[in-house]
Amino acid sequence: MANDGPDLKSAPVVVLGRLPDKKLNEEEVRQKFAELWQDPVICPVCKTDEWTFGQNITHLFHLSDLPKPVIEAYPVIHVVCKKCGYLMLFDATFLHLDK
Ligand SMILES: [Zn+2]
Repeated sequence: MANDGPDLKSAPVVVLGRLPDKKLNEEEVRQKFAELWQDPVICPVCKTDEWTFGQNITHLFHLSDLPKPVIEAYPVIHVVCKKCGYLMLFDATFLHLDK
């Protein structure tokens, strides 16, 4: 039998670092990136500078099964190139957009 990872039914899974689901204010997100970025930020793939900013906090998950099942959540904001779809992820807690 293939190893499909830890048996999550046998033990409670602890989720660490997850933030509550929250719709972000588009203007607030755009303003935050405008403060941080040195204009223009150029897409490394298509060389344009038009970006779409995520309106939700997305979570990346890492599943660890040692010594017991734990899911570590990494809250991120995504920024996507409008032309080619190149994707960048930014730590939501670092950007203070999780408040
Ligand atoms: Zn692009």
